[in-house]
Amino acid sequence: MFLEVEGLEERVEAFLLRLEREKPPLSVFTSIEPLFLDPAGYSSFRILESGMTQPRAVILPDIATCPDCLEEILDPGNRRYRYPFTNCTACGPRYSIIEKLPYDRPNTTMRIFEMCSECRQEYENPGDRRFHAQPIACPACGPHIVLWNHAGDLLAEKDQSLKAAARLLEEGAILAFKGLGGFQLLVDARDNAAVSRLRQLKHREEKPFAIMVQDIKEARKLCVIAPMEERLLKSPESPIVLLRKNKEILAYQVAPGCPDLGVLLPCTPLHHLLFGDIGFPVVATSGNRTDEPICMDEYEALDRLKGIADAFLVHNRPIRRYVDDSVARVILKREMLLRRARGYAPLPIPLHKDTPPLLGVGAHLKNTVALSLGNEVVLSQHIGDLESVEAFNAFKAAVEDLQELFQVRPAEVVCDLHPDYLSSRFARERSPHPLAIQHHEAHILACMAENALAQEVLGISWDGIGLGSDRTLWGGEFLLVEPAGSSRLAHLRPFLLPGGESAVKEPRRSAIGLLYELLGESCFFQEHLAPFETFSDQDLKVIYQALKTGLNSPGTTSMGRLFDAVASLCGIRQVDRYEGQAAMELESFAAQSSTESSYDFVIHGVKPPYTIDWGPMVRSILDDLGQMQPVGEIAGKFHNSLAEMILRAAVLSHKDTVVLSGGCFQNRILLEKTVPRLKQEGFRVYWPQRVPPNDGGIALGQVYGAAHRLPQLKDSATGG
Ligand SMILES: [Zn+2]
Ligand SMILES: [Zn+2]
Ligand SMILES: [Zn+2]
Repeated sequence: MFLEVEGLEERVEAFLLRLEREKPPLSVFTSIEPLFLDPAGYSSFRILESGMTQPRAVILPDIATCPDCLEEILDPGNRRYRYPFTNCTACGPRYSIIEKLPYDRPNTTMRIFEMCSECRQEYENPGDRRFHAQPIACPACGPHIVLWNHAGDLLAEKDQSLKAAARLLEEGAILAFKGLGGFQLLVDARDNAAVSRLRQLKHREEKPFAIMVQDIKEARKLCVIAPMEERLLKSPESPIVLLRKNKEILAYQVAPGCPDLGVLLPCTPLHHLLFGDIGFPVVATSGNRTDEPICMDEYEALDRLKGIADAFLVHNRPIRRYVDDSVARVILKREMLLRRARGYAPLPIPLHKDTPPLLGVGAHLKNTVALSLGNEVVLSQHIGDLESVEAFNAFKAAVEDLQELFQVRPAEVVCDLHPDYLSSRFARERSPHPLAIQHHEAHILACMAENALAQEVLGISWDGIGLGSDRTLWGGEFLLVEPAGSSRLAHLRPFLLPGGESAVKEPRRSAIGLLYELLGESCFFQEHLAPFETFSDQDLKVIYQALKTGLNSPGTTSMGRLFDAVASLCGIRQVDRYEGQAAMELESFAAQSSTESSYDFVIHGVKPPYTIDWGPMVRSILDDLGQMQPVGEIAGKFHNSLAEMILRAAVLSHKDTVVLSGGCFQNRILLEKTVPRLKQEGFRVYWPQRVPPNDGGIALGQVYGAAHRLPQLKDSATGG
């Protein structure tokens, strides 16, 4: 169902917050995905005939425990008292247990449990809250939990396992926990030694962990929470929400040096019960080794998490497909999904165009795949980085799974322009000439699809690195994009990345490449600058040679690398411990500054593609550093300058609509500075909300682009 509400921003926000609180009794929201659109000028209230026929059943995402079920499991008089698999038509597992359509019990993994007579009565009674609740269960007939030690020997059964697991956590143990869509690893978030041990065993150096707390009251002890953030935390989707820490009460190792904390609330009865027994925050991270998919099966977990987990809290309800926790943040009072998985996948995104089945296979990092079905696109749950054989197998399984589930064979496969991505290779195996859509164009197309934009827009597509149509490495792109094609309006001034791939993890290499472009060889006499300090003389010789000869030093126009370079010059970070770390740290420095001033830059060229030259900006940054200006001020001015660049490009483009996408726009400060500036000057601005701005959205952009481009599709297409 679609609701369009128009009014002042505060009123629309209030409506959204009241919608769940004041809905009529017995009505159910299984999911709410707010999307802010342009004003349409409504003046009255109307209910319209549905223009769309639903050709197929919608598969719902997994839904967090509803208040009614929560009340039952906490009521000693109820037959489901402390039963961890309690659910009803308003909540419980869906996508993670369905094997095929139609969504009936025999087609879910719950088919192995025969309903008892009491459950059957509820299931068959149209007046009951559990009428046709497919995963219905109770202590008499449903699944049960057990606690195993590290070797799989039984430690406790049923309710006893919760108390025993809570004790183990309190003692500092790492608990493998079979959740809704896969395993999680839990550890006491107050215990620095235990959290460090988890980091070591999982080979996860500094990437922040998410925290699960019992309820919103506990969350408030750790973080500042705005009303829209509270709504998101308590929503049926129940994602991890990135919040600003208010004080450091947790172990330092949870999110070292990071001003934000990812927080989620219990989303299943099992989580609620365990948290009732422990009463302290725990780290909740995916149950896998880094770069591998999440474990789903308890016996597989015993093997794959061997050496990490001290105990296993497991159950016998099989998980059909892994669905990771979603991650979201609120920017400019709107939700932005950073990882679309549990609670959201596989809800479709309307395409506003009838399309034969197309498969978009995404990019390389944060992979998702997309399948078009009629006039909608289903975007898969987050699959992950295709960096290991296991991850690639999971990707292939996800492609098969979507096709099986929705009973479609794609007519065409769409991939990234980069020929060496595993996803692109897979596309070539499927189809001899798959359509390839340029990476940065796909970022913009995804946001256009989400907002039903079909006119030509200025797309600001900023991320780490993607292959450009001229076979160089792009990433700071200003593109004119329409669904049927695009052209390059402007790009950042290119610079070399000494060491190629290794520059992605080492911001200091981007910094030296940037200085070399600006100052030539003389930059090597600037040894006092931070990027040079951590290299040995021998390393610097190699880098010098690489830059001089161009060997293993590709050029790039990447904005992500420009962020890296500035973070390195400011002495913030020379080597990343996880993807995007330097840029995130630069963002948090900028957050400390309220400066309105910006650095100069110039635009070269007489016709597109123009070059946006950061030279004057970097010279001024070097001056500011020389004068010992605070790093927060420099970071603030840098962000302001980027907002100015976007504004200048928007004026240059003669377009009235600007779309901002790519991983750089996960940056709150950048959006907060850019969007109001553009609006002030009369531009309409769009940025991703339901679909991640990072590479998790690429597959959707690929399908949206292909739907308008494949010649054989154009005849059969209607609308547009
Ligand atoms: Zn319920
Ligand atoms: Zn029962
Ligand atoms: Zn990207």
